[in-house]
Amino acid sequence: MTERLADPEFDAVVEFHGHLCLDIALGYRVAKAAMRALACERPPGCAGVRAWRR
Ligand SMILES: [Zn+2]
Repeated sequence: MTERLADPEFDAVVEFHGHLCLDIALGYRVAKAAMRALACERPPGCAGVRAWRR
């Protein structure tokens, strides 16, 4: 059995996407790294998750 660390933000991303897959895990990690590298945060009041479907 695989265990994950609790991350409500990631859970919201998985819920939006509809399932947990490698693309979601990788995209989430890359987005978080990019936000750290660019020293940016979500605008105040922006709790939404943005994603695009192919
Ligand atoms: Zn997927």
